[in-house]
Amino acid sequence: MADVVVIGAGVAGIQAALDLADHNIHVHLVEREPTIGGHMAQLDKTFPTNDCSMCILSPKMVDVARHPNVTIHTCSEVEGIEGEVGTFRVRVRKHPRYIIESECNGCGDCIQICPVEVYNRFDAGIGVRKAIYKPHAQAVPDIVIKDKDHCIECGLCYDVCGREAILHEDEERVVDIEAASIVVATGYATFDAGKKAQLRYLLIPDVITSLEFERMINASGPTGGRLKRLSNGNVPRSIAFVQCVGSRDISAGRPYCSGVCCMYAMKNAMLIREKNPEIEVTVFYNDIRAYGKGYEEYYERAKDLGVRFIRGFPGEVLEGNDCLMMTAENTETGEVETVHPDLVVLSVGLEPARGAEEVARMLGIPQDESGFFEVADQKLGPVLTVRPGIYVAGTATAPRDIPDSVAMGEAAAMRAYLDTVRAG
Ligand code: SF4
Ligand code: SF4
Repeated sequence: MADVVVIGAGVAGIQAALDLADHNIHVHLVEREPTIGGHMAQLDKTFPTNDCSMCILSPKMVDVARHPNVTIHTCSEVEGIEGEVGTFRVRVRKHPRYIIESECNGCGDCIQICPVEVYNRFDAGIGVRKAIYKPHAQAVPDIVIKDKDHCIECGLCYDVCGREAILHEDEERVVDIEAASIVVATGYATFDAGKKAQLRYLLIPDVITSLEFERMINASGPTGGRLKRLSNGNVPRSIAFVQCVGSRDISAGRPYCSGVCCMYAMKNAMLIREKNPEIEVTVFYNDIRAYGKGYEEYYERAKDLGVRFIRGFPGEVLEGNDCLMMTAENTETGEVETVHPDLVVLSVGLEPARGAEEVARMLGIPQDESGFFEVADQKLGPVLTVRPGIYVAGTATAPRDIPDSVAMGEAAAMRAYLDTVRAG
């Protein structure tokens, strides 16, 4: 039976790969990051059940890595595609890891000894990582990568690695894959909050994004789950969430609703109140979008836990005396409300993944006006593209939550499976 290429190894791509592999189809799972898992691996809990995100995702990551019908290509990007359904030829470029993958056992001795500390993208900038690193503790594959741009070639890691797994030099490699079909699950990026100048992101240390907050509240994150102000390390007495940062905002070029931000903000607000009932939590919102099963009840639970919801968008985040200050018109009461939070969390919206334009051009599939991949039929063909044999899943098509992404991964896998059957 012919192979299938899945581009993107977040939860939608992993689900598609697992379903195909379980049907005896060989899958090439292509991921540009050094680990599979996508954004879901960065999250703390998931709404509306408050399950631990990695407790759900990690077993899937391990299953797909161990599956005999799956070849994982990390640090890799699709750079060319030829042919048509049944007979695609997909060219994958694997970027150097500077590690002999078959030799590294993930012991971490090299990480311990490396003296270089740099910005940690996985922890959304809270905390640091070394120049040789694993993206996170449950990375798959469980091996390190050397960041050539920051390595100072001090030589310490080479000396400590008993398996001689670290390379001074490494090169790009190209793999050509023949496949019956392709599933595109390239995920999303988050809105750059710096574009909303009045919210003072990166100018005031206690203004952070929701993804940074996910890492902060995560017990396996850089603060061990301890909530703190980045300005002075103190536990915040009051936290404010600002909704629709880069969503439903024509001036920011993001007119659409990101769908998940109301729910993830409620989830984080509830986690704060459950763990630290002394912390005041305020959510500034436009409208609450709680459209899924159990979501409205979740909203009610947040209110019962003492989360205060103010309908209104604050004009500007100002620095006050040992706290911040935000003022908004409460559009329900008509009153002007001022709050003095110690920490402001910006609920950033979802936007197309970096490089989506290039992928669209290469695959010959259109993007919609927001830059997400266009599906052939919103209602009757939600994973089909205009190009037979190329399917889309998850947030590559629009902002959506985890259950929807998984369902699309499954649907795309079934379509791809039918192509492999026809191709023989
Ligand atoms: Fe351990 Fe060597 Fe791998 Fe580093 S490169 S994790 S020291 S085996
Ligand atoms: Fe870190 Fe580079 Fe030194 Fe290795 S050689 S310990 S990666 S700085």
